[in-house]
Amino acid sequence: MQEGVMQRMWQTGHISGGNAAYVEELYETYIQDPNAVPEEWRNYFEKLPTVSGISTQDVPHSTIREHFLLLGKNRAKSKILTPASLSTEHEKKQVQVIELIEAYRLRGHQNAKLDPLGLQQRPAVLDLTIEHHGLSKADMDTLFRSTSLNIGQEEAPLSTIVEALQQTYCSSVGAEFMHIVNSDERHWFQQRLESMRSHPEYSAETKLHILERLTAAEGLEKYLGTKYPGTKRFGLEGGESLVPMVDEIIQRAGAYEVKELVIGMAHRGRLNLLVNILGKNPADLFSEFEGKRVFDKGSGDVKYHQGFSSNVMTPGGEVHLAMAFNPSHLEIVAPVVQGSVRARQDRRKDSKQELVLPITLHGDAAFAGQGVVMETLQLSQTRAYKTGGTIHIIINNQVGFTTSPEDARSTEYCTDIAKMVQAPILHVNGDDPEAVLFVTRLALDYRMQFKKDVVIDLVCYRRRGHNEADEPGATQPQMYDVIKKHGTTRTLYAEKLVQEGALTPEDDKQLVEDYRQALDNGQHVVKSLVKEPNRELFVDWAPYLAHEWTARHDTSVCLQTLQELAHKLCEIPEGIVLQRQVGKIIDDRRKMAAGALAINWGFAETMAYATLLMEGHPVRITGQDVGRGTFSHRHAVLHSQKEDEIYIPLCHLAENQPRIDIYDSILSEEAVLAFEYGYATTTPNALVVWEAQFGDFANGAQVVIDQFITSGEHKWGRLCGLTMLLPHGYEGQGPEHSSARLERFLQLCAEHNIQVCTPTTPAQVFHMLRRQMLRPLRKPLIALTPKSLLRHKQATSSLEDLAEGSFQTVLPNHQEVPAEQVKRFIMCSGKVYYDLLEKQLADDIQDAVVVRIEQLYPFPHEDLSSIFLQYPNLEKVVWCQEEPMNQGAWYSSQHHMRRVIADHNNPSLYLEYAGREASAAPASGYMSTHVEEQQRLVDTAFTV
Ligand code: AMP
Repeated sequence: MQEGVMQRMWQTGHISGGNAAYVEELYETYIQDPNAVPEEWRNYFEKLPTVSGISTQDVPHSTIREHFLLLGKNRAKSKILTPASLSTEHEKKQVQVIELIEAYRLRGHQNAKLDPLGLQQRPAVLDLTIEHHGLSKADMDTLFRSTSLNIGQEEAPLSTIVEALQQTYCSSVGAEFMHIVNSDERHWFQQRLESMRSHPEYSAETKLHILERLTAAEGLEKYLGTKYPGTKRFGLEGGESLVPMVDEIIQRAGAYEVKELVIGMAHRGRLNLLVNILGKNPADLFSEFEGKRVFDKGSGDVKYHQGFSSNVMTPGGEVHLAMAFNPSHLEIVAPVVQGSVRARQDRRKDSKQELVLPITLHGDAAFAGQGVVMETLQLSQTRAYKTGGTIHIIINNQVGFTTSPEDARSTEYCTDIAKMVQAPILHVNGDDPEAVLFVTRLALDYRMQFKKDVVIDLVCYRRRGHNEADEPGATQPQMYDVIKKHGTTRTLYAEKLVQEGALTPEDDKQLVEDYRQALDNGQHVVKSLVKEPNRELFVDWAPYLAHEWTARHDTSVCLQTLQELAHKLCEIPEGIVLQRQVGKIIDDRRKMAAGALAINWGFAETMAYATLLMEGHPVRITGQDVGRGTFSHRHAVLHSQKEDEIYIPLCHLAENQPRIDIYDSILSEEAVLAFEYGYATTTPNALVVWEAQFGDFANGAQVVIDQFITSGEHKWGRLCGLTMLLPHGYEGQGPEHSSARLERFLQLCAEHNIQVCTPTTPAQVFHMLRRQMLRPLRKPLIALTPKSLLRHKQATSSLEDLAEGSFQTVLPNHQEVPAEQVKRFIMCSGKVYYDLLEKQLADDIQDAVVVRIEQLYPFPHEDLSSIFLQYPNLEKVVWCQEEPMNQGAWYSSQHHMRRVIADHNNPSLYLEYAGREASAAPASGYMSTHVEEQQRLVDTAFTV
């Protein structure tokens, strides 16, 4: 036995001095024939890790050298010899046999019996016939070397080889793994599949457990169907094998010492998993069916979108389960789950990504159709987003809502997209629960061993159409004719067990009755549920609940601390050679730290992160190009020009500082923003920032904004402190790259769901970011950030502004003027302020003030009113914006401004508009038009 294997066994206590020989013997038997050892031992051996690229399960101890020699010879032969160059007929045929074996590994899945309904029509696969490889029936009894096929025999007749291949690759399991480039992984699959011919022997206990789980899955649907007939529940009927599958993942993951699992899924089967896997009390579910409220506050959500948390007991101890809340938009929860998992891994300092496991469930049509699937897969191995592999489960109903596969995709399988990350794909017939158990173990073992995504395609059907109020026969008549006559998965499996003698018909009836009885009693039906959960397994959100946005929090930092940090941020180790312009930026920052230069945006923002880190808050910043900043203002990640080396000053502030993650993202908005939403809703004490490359690109993630960020708290009571930085401002760059579509965010504002800010000074961004963390309120922050202002001479602050100030929701006129002489009150937000200021100064306008509203939502009524009421002789009140009239803040915020004007009790005052005309596009593509329009709107603000 290999040393690594022995060592691991010693560590896990499976071997002690007395039983070492016995275990070794068992292991050798397992290698020869995995089915010949008890299931418990097989499970153990399967989970042993690969040592130095060689699977520990490969070969028996006594024959190890011999085996490798043989294998080596075979491989060499299959590479360099062609049939024509071989001397004897037998040798030629030997090579052809090897080709046949390879063909089955590659294409066997195409002949596998995956469809429980038997309706799938697959074209014949020539490569899987012996004739295609130059062999014939006459060769069936001839002995060929079979060591490359992992069936524990060095030689076997062709008939045995073909039979083994058929059983392994063409029965209820269709395995796709030959597209994986890594040969360790490919060999791992070959070994695991072939050594058991994809048909492991299960103990009677395991079989009865599978049946019990199927009984629960079917029992719940039947119960709900009878109690609430015709009510939508998106039942699991037809895909009941999902319940034993997820149950097995959790229990086996627990044995691997996984501590948390996060599950994301759409509606089909959700109620079933909530009750039968996560242990939601059926009585609570029944209340929801009866229309009762779950939360006192907010709108709530339909029952098949609800999340849930619980702890269950596993062989490895208590495990925390979290089912993510989900909107109807099918695949969008997948990246949210990834973010939540990564947050939990970071919290646990789980750098090997072994303690928290993501499981995402998908429908066949959605997995094939929705682009966010591809984006999420693309995240899976990147530094910023990887979670050490996700188990994807497709509940493959073989139909979309009413759409048949030929219209739903262009790919052979609904899972083909997963091949882009070389994920192995295990198709399995949902009516063969033992095969389902086999692929489930395989998938989990693969994930734990190789830390990569894996897909299980559970081929099943939908017994009752898209939902229970539907008539599926209208669009899929043939399929539903077959379904009507088709026995349930549970019935078929129970019959099999009765036939095998593992179960009596009476016991079978009793199982069904026991489950029904438990539901009748309103009991929890998950035996492993932990009634008094260990709360240390998850975060306590209590400190963040029930806070008002108006509560003030001190965001100042003492000057000395600021200076010390500022100097630290500019200390660049020897050996890091900065590019010339970057070197200049750091030199300038040194001057800012010394008070010799006014502080600019980039430094103030970086200082906000540094101070938060020093106060114990982790910081995570992602988005396209965030390391440098789209407009070259941040330079938080410094690239040495000498070696390919990076240096992040924010990582080197103090020895035990919290983590700071700053990563350029993949070029996605949707999956990336959803990921960060998942991260932020899981980590309340971290500042989580996503920056759009340009603000307008955020609408590539509109579904995340609509379905999660602006409404998640209201629907599900899930708080979120995510910060979105969206560069915005009209600078003649054309219809795109001008507007972050402020109007969209403002239109979504209600019930203090989000904060929308437009900071215009470095000190404002500093205090805004600090406020986001220091105030215990956790609300998404949408911040419109500047572009040209990043280098604007007047958009600067002093160290004292950072040290003493706070975030101002409204900024008054740039200088105090005698209040009596002011006739015109101009309000604005964002960059246009500096254009207005320029005119005010250039024309020496003394009777107008320009006031910036730096927080558009929640609207700062009192702060604005207190400035407004200072001017007793006002004649004009103007809102000035750069955006066209149908965009920006005009339509969404004017009622707030009008209310402030009403405070004046002067009926002759009403709100005037100075801005661009209504327009279909956000901005003109011509610089000359832009300049003209900009000039006009600024002039109008002072003349209207
Ligand atoms: P989880 O680990 O996601 O299952 O969360 C455990 C518990 O923490 C949940 O049952 C909630 O009570 C609470 N919780 C989790 N996330 C949030 C959140 N974003 N906002 C408020 N409470 C939360």
